[in-house]
Amino acid sequence: MKTFIVDAMLGKLATWLRLTGHDAFYSTKAHDDELLRIALEQDRVLLTSDAILSRRAEEVGVECMLVRGSVDDEVASVFSKYGISPDADPSKSRCTKCNGSLTHLKEEEKERIKNLVPEQTYNHYTDFWFCEYCKSVFFHGGQWTNINAYMNRIAQLIKELET
Ligand SMILES: [Zn+2]
Repeated sequence: MKTFIVDAMLGKLATWLRLTGHDAFYSTKAHDDELLRIALEQDRVLLTSDAILSRRAEEVGVECMLVRGSVDDEVASVFSKYGISPDADPSKSRCTKCNGSLTHLKEEEKERIKNLVPEQTYNHYTDFWFCEYCKSVFFHGGQWTNINAYMNRIAQLIKELET
């Protein structure tokens, strides 16, 4: 599976890659030289909206895609090019905040995150996903309805791109 490095302008794209289980390095602080160095060292595909950076990437042998358009266009074009299925599933996702991999906590383990979520949330859900790196907690709550709706929209756009 390809891994990615995403420039600072494309934060939403990084989030959608992570939600669909892809390793996407993203930092708002990394400058161009650093992005190119990390892409080379870790064999990551660079996604950027900056034509100059894209040319530099080509010169140093970094695989790169120049991503343009609205957020929806960005997501659909990258997913289409790299064969990414618009299917966000918490059991496959990476942490949207730090790109860490998530640990699934079953009901008997969920006490570990008791102090990290509101009591109501804790009592209502049985399955939680926990990022060991930044201690973020994810659960299959109402936000997944929106996530799934957006993924359906992206699926439609991909279909349009590919016909
Ligand atoms: Zn995290």
